[in-house]
Amino acid sequence: MTDLLAESLYVVAALLFVLSLKFMAEVRTSRMGNICGVAGMAVAIGATLLAYQTQNVDLLVGAVAIGVVVGSPIGLKVAMTAVPQRTAMSHAFGSLAVALVGAAEYYHDAPAIDPATLSVLSGEMVLGFLTFTGSCIAFAKLQGLISGKPLLYRGRMFVSMGVLGVAIASAAYLVANPSQEMVLPLVAGAALVFGFLLVIAIGGADMPTVIAILNSFAGISAAALGFVLDNQLLIVAGTLDGSSGLILGIIMSKAMNRSFTNILFGGVGATVTGTTSTETRVAQTYTPEDVATIMRDARSVIFAPGYGMAVAQAQHVVKELADVLQARGIDVKYAIHPVAGRMPGHMNVLLAEAQVPYDQLWEMDRVNPLFPETDVVIVVGANDVTNPAARTRPDSPLYGMPILDVDKARTVVFIKRSMGPGFSGVDNELFYLPKTMMVLGDAKKVLTELLSSLRNMGN
Ligand code: NAP
Repeated sequence: MTDLLAESLYVVAALLFVLSLKFMAEVRTSRMGNICGVAGMAVAIGATLLAYQTQNVDLLVGAVAIGVVVGSPIGLKVAMTAVPQRTAMSHAFGSLAVALVGAAEYYHDAPAIDPATLSVLSGEMVLGFLTFTGSCIAFAKLQGLISGKPLLYRGRMFVSMGVLGVAIASAAYLVANPSQEMVLPLVAGAALVFGFLLVIAIGGADMPTVIAILNSFAGISAAALGFVLDNQLLIVAGTLDGSSGLILGIIMSKAMNRSFTNILFGGVGATVTGTTSTETRVAQTYTPEDVATIMRDARSVIFAPGYGMAVAQAQHVVKELADVLQARGIDVKYAIHPVAGRMPGHMNVLLAEAQVPYDQLWEMDRVNPLFPETDVVIVVGANDVTNPAARTRPDSPLYGMPILDVDKARTVVFIKRSMGPGFSGVDNELFYLPKTMMVLGDAKKVLTELLSSLRNMGN
């Protein structure tokens, strides 16, 4: 009876996870997606406690309690800009747990464990352990604990592939000789070292995409463990996690015009150290008051937000400014690039937090045709996602990345602190166009001054 109840709750949890992903696909329903995900996990934990109640329930409850105490503040207190590294930490914990359960399962059942089960278990442990160290390095790079530069050296691929080869060969040996318990530390050690080598050679810039890929690895290893433990919920949840991480990784790489192999094995420092122009050109700098004068006569304004808006936490003042402009009868829209900021949906989340109506958010493909008829585009802390080098310079690391065509608007206002490049390290020739007004300063400060200038102007 208890088993039946636990199995039924597993089905409910699996359904909630599927609904969670479905709702997460749209900004409008994403809160509901979050609620479904949390509810699904609560049901899953409850069902697991029920299913295993005869075996050390005190240990299980203790483990859940530790998870709640450690996890809740991390979930509640982490700033939005630190979500990528927080996610890396979650994957590190998740994959370590999966790998350790796999190791415990092996030591518990060896040498009687059958070869089919042991092959799944070995593959799961290799993935789990490499995801653990890879995620820790991703966290350290994003948090600035270690340099974000890729560690590149001669023979790097040879060393990495050699270590991966050791992990796979020792795992295969273990499958053929299940009683050789001393081989497992070698499998685990080689996988841990490979995860480290893999991610340490990738630039901090590519970490959000790497995290999506590691997410996928963690999910696949959890699904494999589900097969070993005969736990259907783990299979479903792991598969959903693995496939969604993979799809997200593909979407992100496409939006950055990169391939998976280029990200994982390309020594992606190239992205950071890309072609920065050495030409001496003069940009026109303006004050917020100058911009206010232009905006007073505008009929249409599009905001193009980017990473700098997140850093400055300028989304609320952007919304206030938009309200003032709309009250003057000016048409206002927001142009959303799929990889603006540092994580998927970064701009959507910030603007939703500032209560910007969803129907004013225009995705790149829909908004691009509107720029030629737009009077003023205000680029708030965005850079790469507006850089025309992506269209015109085949030698640029940005070449081929779809961009917001802000250069086609009548006037382009850039709000940023300096003439420096963005994430890709590539100079932006838009800064030097006659139609561009550079307003240098922190986005929140500049926009606040712009807002008060507009208000002082009256009608
Ligand atoms: P970006 O190219 O990194 O440019 C952001 C700009 O914001 C910088 O040039 C910086 O210039 C400015 N800035 C920083 N702090 C500021 C502040 N307090 N006030 C005003 N401006 C400030 O950002 P983006 O245009 O959003 O492009 C995103 C980049 O990240 C793309 O290259 C994308 O491929 C990459 N990426 C995105 C994701 C994702 O999932 N979204 C994942 C991985 C990589 P100053 O220093 O001069 O102020």
